[in-house]
Amino acid sequence: MDSVSAEIQSMSEPSLAGGLPELLLAVAGRVGCSDLEEVKAALTRAAFSQQSQVGAVISTGTVPENDFLHALADELGIQWREEEEVRPAENVRATFPARLALGFQILPEQGTEDPPVETGDTDGNAESRTPAETTLPLLVWDPFDLAAWQAVMHHHPGTVRVVMTTRRRLTEAVKSSYGVGAETFEELLEGRDEETLVEKEEVNVLDGEDPEASVMKFVNQILREGLQQGATDIHFEPLGHDLRIRYRIDGVLHEAPVPPRIRVLQDSVTSRLKIMASLDIAERRLPQDGRIALEHKGRPIDVRVATIPCVHGENVSLRLLGAEQFDFKRLGLEPGLERIIRGLIAIPNGIVLVTGPTGCGKSTSLYTFLSALNVKERRIVTIEDPVEHKIDGVIQIAVKPEIDLTFANALRSILRGDPNVVMIGEMRDRETVEIAIRAAQTGHLVFSTLHTNDAVGGITRLIDMGVEPFLVGSSVRAFLAQRLVRKLCPKCSKPTTVSPEELQREGFPMELLGGVRQPGGCQSCRQTGYAGRLAIMEICLMTPALQGLLQKRATGNELSEQAVRDGMIPLRNDGWRKVAMGLTSVEEVLRVTASDLAVLDE
Ligand SMILES: [Zn+2]
Repeated sequence: MDSVSAEIQSMSEPSLAGGLPELLLAVAGRVGCSDLEEVKAALTRAAFSQQSQVGAVISTGTVPENDFLHALADELGIQWREEEEVRPAENVRATFPARLALGFQILPEQGTEDPPVETGDTDGNAESRTPAETTLPLLVWDPFDLAAWQAVMHHHPGTVRVVMTTRRRLTEAVKSSYGVGAETFEELLEGRDEETLVEKEEVNVLDGEDPEASVMKFVNQILREGLQQGATDIHFEPLGHDLRIRYRIDGVLHEAPVPPRIRVLQDSVTSRLKIMASLDIAERRLPQDGRIALEHKGRPIDVRVATIPCVHGENVSLRLLGAEQFDFKRLGLEPGLERIIRGLIAIPNGIVLVTGPTGCGKSTSLYTFLSALNVKERRIVTIEDPVEHKIDGVIQIAVKPEIDLTFANALRSILRGDPNVVMIGEMRDRETVEIAIRAAQTGHLVFSTLHTNDAVGGITRLIDMGVEPFLVGSSVRAFLAQRLVRKLCPKCSKPTTVSPEELQREGFPMELLGGVRQPGGCQSCRQTGYAGRLAIMEICLMTPALQGLLQKRATGNELSEQAVRDGMIPLRNDGWRKVAMGLTSVEEVLRVTASDLAVLDE
């Protein structure tokens, strides 16, 4: 180490003639590099293979990237931008070619003509500048990338003033400025002038050589980006003047940044998706459904594709399935609730019903229960509309009303095959409920869902359907109501600024006040303040007291009060427990527990 610090001392007047590797090594040492020998070796390899030497240092992982690049900027007298200060130039994709930005990870900065040249200017370019020339402020992470220099000089006749920031921030800024797949897109358009493109919008613009490969690459980039971001759906939506691509992440739609003029590729992209899903590409007037089998990071992804003809062209929606694991850990339930559920599903007969509006995660919970029960000794059969996720070892049937394969009919034939566990996608009619009750009473464990707001609402729904109260009381073991709340991003959540009085007005228990946090917004959560979701739940167990009330045809309120007396923790209170732990926000809990079903359904 001593010899290295001596080296650093002698580097106070850096000159590249002294050698770039020595300079980088010294800067690495100054920011606390953990293994200078490794850096040395990496620099040698990089020099030999003509790779970026700055990149080589960072890739060793022995220096903190930010500190290293910042120190390098200081050493070279180059202006530094912290990640949050990085502002790409306005309209950058019209003025600066994607090929340069994406190819070299560089980006013009927002801003500013430079002030008139003064003597003593420190950026070293002053003498070469005349007032007639414009200066391009250019964000880079590697100031020694000669190929980038050459390319930029070719593009920009004036002078260039380099500003440095981190590689990570630049990569991200370039992607959000130019859009996913922009490089491919530009390749596709290379050599075509604007007018032909506009005129030929109707026809396939990709008549050139090997266009299919490029569209394929572009579509793959969109899919890969979606999977990386944890999207559950991707929508391709023609708007007339533009093609919009949106990802659903944690239940919320986000518009994907896409290259400008992507509209010209609309038909090709649609066709490519239809070919992948084995759909009829000539059929553009009728909706079609298909599937694509993908693999991402070694895991199979089942993509369900639906096309819907609209005024501006075909909408294509992709649902990405199999990106999820079904385990209790992922549901994020209160330990007490998880224990109750594990107890419930361990009993070999009876009905367990999950209630809640569309999109509240009912299927995810049911698949979790089934996965927990899924062992060779058990025969598990599901009837679904449609089958949302395939589970190995489980027999899954999709209802087909057009050939009279309804929930009730399918259930009847399934029971003849003597399953241990049956899952019915939804109980919509009295016939289905009655068969399910018979199944439960003859030694089967039955799971299903009901479209009601709360747990006790499930009881009244069954009775409203005409099921005898004593049958409900004797066959249903529990009603679970659930919602999904978004989890606060752990990187940027902050203590709440809402006053205790206000929280109390919302019904928040004052004794839990300490840990309440609210969303911030950072790069890793795309400025939403949230990342991922967890389930909140209330469980109404069929107690003897409730069975008694059912016989007396008690009202929903009476049933609710009894359920709470018997230990049910209401949905919102379960939510408050998660708020108190800093896992989600007050607004999230209020949003998903608002009593109006219609609001939740959107
Ligand atoms: Zn965040």
